[in-house]
Amino acid sequence: MTRARRRQGGGFFKDVSRYFERAAHHTDFSPGLLEQVRACNGVYRIRFPVEREDGEIEVVEAYRVEHSHHRLPTKGGIRFSPDLDQDEVMALAALMTFKCALVDVPFGGAKGGIRINPHGVTERFRERVTRRYTAELVKKNFIGPSLDVPAPDYGTSEREMAWIADTFQALNPTQLDSYACVTGKPISLHGVPGRREATGLGVFYGIREAMSIAEDMRSLGLEPGLAGKRVALQGLGNVGYHAAHFAQVEGDAVIVGIAEIEGAIHAPDGLDVEEVLRHRRETGSILDFPGARNLAAPEEVLELDCDVLIPAALEAQITRENASRVQARIVAEGANGPVDPDGEKILLERGVFLIPDIFLNSGGVTVSYFEWVKNLSHISFARMTKRQQEITNRRFIEVMEEVPWRNFSPSQRALLVEGPREIDFVRTALEETLTIAYHNIHDAWKQQPLPDLRTAAFYFAIQKVAGSYLHQGIFP
Ligand code: NAD
Repeated sequence: MTRARRRQGGGFFKDVSRYFERAAHHTDFSPGLLEQVRACNGVYRIRFPVEREDGEIEVVEAYRVEHSHHRLPTKGGIRFSPDLDQDEVMALAALMTFKCALVDVPFGGAKGGIRINPHGVTERFRERVTRRYTAELVKKNFIGPSLDVPAPDYGTSEREMAWIADTFQALNPTQLDSYACVTGKPISLHGVPGRREATGLGVFYGIREAMSIAEDMRSLGLEPGLAGKRVALQGLGNVGYHAAHFAQVEGDAVIVGIAEIEGAIHAPDGLDVEEVLRHRRETGSILDFPGARNLAAPEEVLELDCDVLIPAALEAQITRENASRVQARIVAEGANGPVDPDGEKILLERGVFLIPDIFLNSGGVTVSYFEWVKNLSHISFARMTKRQQEITNRRFIEVMEEVPWRNFSPSQRALLVEGPREIDFVRTALEETLTIAYHNIHDAWKQQPLPDLRTAAFYFAIQKVAGSYLHQGIFP
């Protein structure tokens, strides 16, 4: 309901433009250049027929939007959503441009969407829709390793990415790099370990980094660090589940509330995220989880008494209607656009610390970049180094053990010898990327100074995108 209401008030792309303009105002770029950075460069709207299980033809509406061609390929997920429209896809594509700039991955922003209910169609129908959509994109050069590279988003997963890769490959059998046409693929089909959890893990790294800055936390009345803090989550999907899982297992946070589409649960002493997921798989719902209380409606999770709230479902969840009732001290935007500008204004006036989406959920595109690089290089990251690193480590230990009193136990030896696996490269590079990005925007926020972290994130990203247009020159 709130999403529809937001559209009446102007639209998601307009909201993103407002954030953009608020930050652009602090830069010295010319109005024309800023308009080029803000505008969507290409919009492809398609309608195609797909046969349903009952033999009827359904006309499916779909989009691919390339927001910025300042870097190629463009990059961005594909979502399946029943009330998707062009405005939503344009907004999400624009967010991708700024996200990629923030985490320094060499892509322009894009997004795709198909207007279907991801939960209301059969697997065969999904497959037919996905393959037909891919073929339509191929026809118009809206997909390809050097042109535009999709990934998973709301309602899609590795399965759809595999269909896209397979369809593209079939239509381009001689293209050596064809599997780099899409990321988020299964590992068995040229994916990279760590992509599935990358966005949620990045959300955890981002929150942890933000909460490590004592001065910021003390101004909120919180001790620094995530350990022991109470976290509420909206959306137990790919982003939400992994964010909550890592916050609990690696960050020692206490997950006090979880909302899904069917309802929400609350347990002040903490919920085991794995167990909640298992309960949902077994019963079809998170409700009636042992030891937890059912809330009256899913959106009540947004108003729970907690330290950190992670909205990780869809946009426009915190608006002028409920922002004054949010009790969390930190709102960490796992989803894209979960707080609209009116909601944001109220939160900021109330002193809530808002960690913006374009930074916080950038882990997915970061690891997608690694996958794309791996596909182009046709070799896994650890293949050439793992064994060599182990030999070097072993030599080092042998030299150390020559000192008479220095002997390692077999387990210590194994720990010291083991070379990095591909997943280790991926996770450490993700952690490093998000840490650097956070400090870049935090520095911009404090040093400019700028009014808030979102403005700082847009400011930093605009500098990079506009700067790259200036350096490459505008084609006459
Ligand atoms: P997903 O489909 O895996 O999960 C979303 C979950 O939210 C679903 O389980 C759905 O049932 C639930 N949900 C929907 N409406 C809800 C509501 N009102 N209350 C509670 N739960 C609700 O999607 P995802 O990939 O996790 O994406 C979630 C958000 O994160 C989206 O905004 C997406 O654009 C953004 N995002 C995703 C990625 C990625 O790599 N998947 C990357 C960056 C940003």
